[in-house]
Amino acid sequence: MADGEPRRVVLLGPPNSGKGTQAAFLAERLGVPHVSTGDMLREACEAGTELGERVKGLMADGLLVDDDTMADLVRERLGRQDALAGFLLDGYPRTLRQVRDLETLLSEVEGQDDPDAVVLIDVPEDELVRRGLARGREDDTAEVIRKRIQVYREQTEPLVEYFDSRDGNSELLHRVDGNRPIEAVTGRIFATLGLESGV
Ligand code: AMP
Repeated sequence: MADGEPRRVVLLGPPNSGKGTQAAFLAERLGVPHVSTGDMLREACEAGTELGERVKGLMADGLLVDDDTMADLVRERLGRQDALAGFLLDGYPRTLRQVRDLETLLSEVEGQDDPDAVVLIDVPEDELVRRGLARGREDDTAEVIRKRIQVYREQTEPLVEYFDSRDGNSELLHRVDGNRPIEAVTGRIFATLGLESGV
């Protein structure tokens, strides 16, 4: 991480790892917008836009939206004024192609392709399923929960290895144990990023 507080942060974690909750706390603490691609897509579905119509079936099945669509969405969002000084990305990137797309985007803006920090929230699979069922959203059947986790393992988990082995940037990836109470996880995230604790 460069000197000072990170400004361009990626939060990685499996479905039901508490990523959205922690993303909101961290974005607030850093004073940067919380950019959740899942929320953006859900809003598009609710608004019945062309994008929403196109992605709602995939989302309901726990599958990923295609990389080109996501690249357009993120490019537009990160280009807005409020994201110029930094952002907290929640739910993006989710594939290696998306990592490349993000690197391209970042290097165009600031000439540095890595984000400042990547935080991984680690939670065992049994706990993810238990939490998913406990949330009881109507679309969260055990089958869809397991599908989302499988998609994460296959398409997103390789990013952990990738960020961990970025040449010359051994401090890029920060792993945090997510199998703990919410405040404890927040504390660990703030600590690993060198931020004062407290929400
Ligand atoms: P989330 O709230 O981050 O779990 O996202 C909900 C759903 O939106 C996912 O299951 C995907 O269908 C879709 N989605 C969100 N972000 C992405 C992404 N970066 N790439 C592809 N699909 C995404």
